[in-house]
Amino acid sequence: MGILIEARDLRVGYEVGEKVLWAVDRVSFSIEEGEIFGVLGESGCGKTTLALSFLKLLPAETKLEGKLLFESRNVLELQEEDLRRLRGKEIGIIFQEPITSLNPIMRIKEHFLDTIRAHFDILEDEALNIASSTFNAIGIPSSILNFYPFELSHEQAQRVLIALALALKPKLLIIDEPTNALDIVDQAGFLKLIVSLRKSFKLTIVLMTRDLGVVAQTTDRVMVMYAGEVIEIAPTRELFGAPLHPYFKALLFSAPNLDLEDFELRSLEGFPSDPLNPPKGCRFHPRCFEAMDICGMKEPKVYKVSKSRLVKCWKYHG
Ligand code: SF4
Repeated sequence: MGILIEARDLRVGYEVGEKVLWAVDRVSFSIEEGEIFGVLGESGCGKTTLALSFLKLLPAETKLEGKLLFESRNVLELQEEDLRRLRGKEIGIIFQEPITSLNPIMRIKEHFLDTIRAHFDILEDEALNIASSTFNAIGIPSSILNFYPFELSHEQAQRVLIALALALKPKLLIIDEPTNALDIVDQAGFLKLIVSLRKSFKLTIVLMTRDLGVVAQTTDRVMVMYAGEVIEIAPTRELFGAPLHPYFKALLFSAPNLDLEDFELRSLEGFPSDPLNPPKGCRFHPRCFEAMDICGMKEPKVYKVSKSRLVKCWKYHG
């Protein structure tokens, strides 16, 4: 398996008055073909801006630095015509709140016809056949093609959007907060579906989420973000089995763990740093329970602590 996506010192920023708010700041990572890769972090950490960067779905005045390579092409440098081919056909994306991604006055089948025929020169019947077979593959009845969006449950809407994305046979599927709009009873089935898609559609999947359970149950590797930066990248099992970065440890302690008898729930004190004026040194230091003197003075580098793990923290220096 080769590398499908690679970010090198990627920066994505928005102008705010005379300053630039770097929502994604000097981020480097790579994702292999066939991986399910989680991007984990609290609201405002840069996940959604990163998701939009994969398709360059950003306002024209956005500040972009570094590289974001998809199959060796730098997405940040692609022109409109190449981007049109990339969006949907090579990289699919499913946004939060699925219902709002559908046009309320169009039946589901019209969404499919528009989407498929925008990319393939085929007849209506052929397009509808693709829609029906995709519905079949992800376990929803074809009768839903005649529904309007308001007739769908959140779970059905989420599956319809997945089918809409898969009908174009993308190589990469990005799902932003996959379980946000779902009832707890629908979540397990939906996560199972995501895992099964990798094999049945030969997909690489990126899940953007703040939900520890989602990444633990579905992903192969996880990248943890804080205040626009990558602070840890690790195989999922290693991350949860032996967390290294104090921020991720704090996240683990702020979620209930029924497997540990003497587990004590602890909240993470303080607030994420002001993105326009990030603190000097390590951005997490005002909230870190393991902070040392150097942490507030000098920014740590990203240290390679094993073949598969990277951590941005002074504790792992040297
Ligand atoms: Fe905490 Fe220092 Fe590590 Fe930052 S660099 S996470 S403040 S120990």
